[in-house]
Amino acid sequence: MSKDEAIDFNAQALEGEIELTPPEVYASNLIEWAVERHASDLFVSDSENCVVVSVRRLGRVEPVRRLARAYGRRLQGHLRVLGGADAGETIRPADGRGVLATPDGGIVDLRLSSIPTLFGQDVAVRLFDPVRGARSIENLGFDDAEFKIVCDLINRPSGLILVAGPVASGKSCTLYAAVHALNDGSRKIHTLEDPIEHAIPGVMQTQINLRAELDFADLLSAVLRHSPDVIMIGEIRDSRTASAAVRAGASGQLVLGTIHAKSCAEAIDSMLQYDTNPKFLASALIGVITQRLIRHLCSSCRRPVDVGDLEISDRIRPRLAGHTPHVCDSVGCDECFGDGFDALACVPEILVTDRVLSRIIAEGAAAMTLEDAARERGMLSLAEAMEARVYRAQTTPYEAHRAIPDPALAALVGKAQTAGK
Ligand SMILES: [Zn+2]
Repeated sequence: MSKDEAIDFNAQALEGEIELTPPEVYASNLIEWAVERHASDLFVSDSENCVVVSVRRLGRVEPVRRLARAYGRRLQGHLRVLGGADAGETIRPADGRGVLATPDGGIVDLRLSSIPTLFGQDVAVRLFDPVRGARSIENLGFDDAEFKIVCDLINRPSGLILVAGPVASGKSCTLYAAVHALNDGSRKIHTLEDPIEHAIPGVMQTQINLRAELDFADLLSAVLRHSPDVIMIGEIRDSRTASAAVRAGASGQLVLGTIHAKSCAEAIDSMLQYDTNPKFLASALIGVITQRLIRHLCSSCRRPVDVGDLEISDRIRPRLAGHTPHVCDSVGCDECFGDGFDALACVPEILVTDRVLSRIIAEGAAAMTLEDAARERGMLSLAEAMEARVYRAQTTPYEAHRAIPDPALAALVGKAQTAGK
């Protein structure tokens, strides 16, 4: 199929009543289209009367197409085959990996998972765009000050660094970026992952295998015997892994791991809830990066809004160096497919331990005490980091407030709405 005959996925229609296109051609066009729009996932899901095709783009799900059931099922079957799963066995959850050649000659790595649902199945395809690939630390979305702090942290010879955040906050993206930065051939790097998202040349990557009863803690003990310099732990989610990570961080390795927590202080509190010894944790922990993802405004079409005088705190002002503080709203143009936003970026809260903070951690203090002490020592909270991005016109007040509900951001949302009327 030539470019001219490519299917128009922007049109909303129930398609496939008359099968013009074989499902394998449809699948390859669909994936090429999704990758062009930088979608991270493709979903083909049975609903009551049809099969719905949607994509996740800039963190949000967008419906693409409704297909007649018979045709949609053939498309699901084809995607399952591409991902190495059985096309017809839909009773059990399945997962797999595959590679697809797109009509324009590109190659897309994909990871497939499917799960039975009320009306059939939900087939989810994670798309790994080879052109964009894994992000480097420079383009995660950190500002200059944040970038410098993170680089200083990951270049320490040993210690434990936690990357925290809720589900889908880009934790593993940051972890991969750190591993890529450290992977210069001078260090032996091991990763323990579930699942392995990208292959990284030169890095020893090990898949957690719960069926073989090999969890993070078991594999971490084994990896420590392989003389690693850097260990990346996909996720710290139980007491044994938490304690093993602390031991490794305290005994000469650089250990990077993600943990499910809303803030830096809560991440440390979670480690204590996993029964790690506060004194060992205090001596191993060198820093915590907690993050959220927000959409960045399209620089081709963003529009300034007059929100009156900006009351910018002295904590945030130094982060605006080189920027005239102002607030912008989204518009939408051809460059950003009409969305007004063109990238998904990471916003961090970064806690770097020092003697004072380590002592507070060793005492097993409450998360609030630790947070107050860290902020006194210069840590910008997530809400403050968001505010800085609003004043730099990188995002809208509404987008920042949606990610982190906060009174200062709520006030900016109100002013922007009044100005827009
Ligand atoms: Zn635009």
